[in-house]
Amino acid sequence: MTQKAYTVLARRYRPTRLADLVGQDLLQSTLTEAIQQNHLPHAILLHGIRGVGKTTTARIIARALNCIGEDGNGPITPNPCGVCASCKDIADDRHLDVIEMDAASRTGVDDVREIVESARYKAVKGRFKIFIIDEVHMLSKSAFNALLKTLEEPPAHVKFIFATTEIRKIPDTILSRCMRFDLKRIEPATVLTYIADLCRQEGITASNEALGHIARAGDGSMRDALSLLDQAIALSLSNNSEGVTEDLVRQMLGATDRGHLFTVLKHLFEGKTDDLLTLTDTLFHDGADPLLLMQEVLETIYWLTCLKTLPKMKNDPTWPQEELNRGTELLENLGISSLARAWQVLSKGYEEIQKNPLQKQACQMVFVRFCHLSTLPSIDKIIETMTSGGNHGGAPNSSGSIPSSSPPSTPIASSPVAATANQSKTVVLEVNQKNIIDLPQSFEALVNFFHEKRELLLAAHLTHDVRVTNYRIGEINMNMDMARLGQLPAQLRAALKIHTEIDWIINVTSDISGRSIADSQKEALTMRLSQAREDPFLNNFLRIFPNSTLTLTENTICAE
Ligand SMILES: [Zn+2]
Repeated sequence: MTQKAYTVLARRYRPTRLADLVGQDLLQSTLTEAIQQNHLPHAILLHGIRGVGKTTTARIIARALNCIGEDGNGPITPNPCGVCASCKDIADDRHLDVIEMDAASRTGVDDVREIVESARYKAVKGRFKIFIIDEVHMLSKSAFNALLKTLEEPPAHVKFIFATTEIRKIPDTILSRCMRFDLKRIEPATVLTYIADLCRQEGITASNEALGHIARAGDGSMRDALSLLDQAIALSLSNNSEGVTEDLVRQMLGATDRGHLFTVLKHLFEGKTDDLLTLTDTLFHDGADPLLLMQEVLETIYWLTCLKTLPKMKNDPTWPQEELNRGTELLENLGISSLARAWQVLSKGYEEIQKNPLQKQACQMVFVRFCHLSTLPSIDKIIETMTSGGNHGGAPNSSGSIPSSSPPSTPIASSPVAATANQSKTVVLEVNQKNIIDLPQSFEALVNFFHEKRELLLAAHLTHDVRVTNYRIGEINMNMDMARLGQLPAQLRAALKIHTEIDWIINVTSDISGRSIADSQKEALTMRLSQAREDPFLNNFLRIFPNSTLTLTENTICAE
């Protein structure tokens, strides 16, 4: 790899002819045809997400209309020569008749009046006077009105090219006077082919897996993908790495090792809470971001669902073979309903993590909740069992998901309210007949639920005096001091029956080990406080005001 002065790839490889546009076939053929026939309308609107080539297309059109060819006598052409004075001036942003304006910074009516005024005069050098207005949706209402008159009766030598990411913000009066083109998100496979080719041209060593990650992370935007590739190249140079490797790209994107990601999914669907917590602890310790992890889990569930329904996905070149193999293996035991359930519960969990200051814990709680749900039988299974009249053997694990290989946990000593196997069956049936999504999905959520139902004393006992070892809808295993609060399990069971209309099983062990919700909250706050002490700003504050103290409440840390 060379160490020459580096210009960003997006700029260096910016297409200058319609034929070079990537991933926009329809736009390419329609515009080529219109230019060849000299039927280009006087106003064109280019719409699409960022980085798909709107401004690039606008500049190509400007060149196409003003190119005079190598001999100075060429006609309008979809493939401008790139060497005539006009092409060169446009490339250098100094063509007198091509005026670019960013509506994001010039939104006012005066800015537009200037354009309208200048549109009345003929082009100085070129055939056409071309106004390119980027982010046109940012114009004010009066600015749009000022523009409208010129759009209604445009001088023959004027062309407007508008670009926007938000078409709904553009008035209908303007829209109806433009020829509209929707630029598509660029398919990851197309981006991959393009950037792989570009690496070859640049003499950059890059693995296909690394480029696949970059192509997908670009999320439909070529500019974003190229900018990520730029960063990866810079990183590989500073690390003296063997070119752009998968590890390096992963590290750059902050992505979880895909191998671990599939293991997370496997544990989730098998309901292996303990393995999952151990693995996520390690991942977080190694720097994984909880929100990003959940996002990747969701993306993979979506991908698995597509893979299940559209087998042709197996030919997608942006997914490494290893992942296709692991995905296929997971899918052997997974139905669409399990995947859909996972999507529903984890998407909701994603929002919870976003709002929660304790993101790691929130992420793990969402996983724990899902594990418990996945050990419940699916509705299909229940109906099957009921109609066949067969027994419900292995009930908690006979779900639509992969059966857990770990034995179900049994409480060390059960209180009188513990259930028999028959009761357990009833609870599971009842739980599934209700919409379990509506019921509290974790013990913390249950306590909040009791707060809402004004069962305040009960909620307080559950917060301070109970250590839950296992929670799932319909069944709670907990440790508590039975000598002191012997009535609590029965009270809890009665309240649950009233508010959830289900008979819950409460397994109690008179053991006071473990952590109550109050303990966990206190621990979390103490941790936040010690993290806060490392904050440079607070640190400074404490140095300047040595007699001040740090106090903390649920969501804020105050220094006084
Ligand atoms: Zn030219």
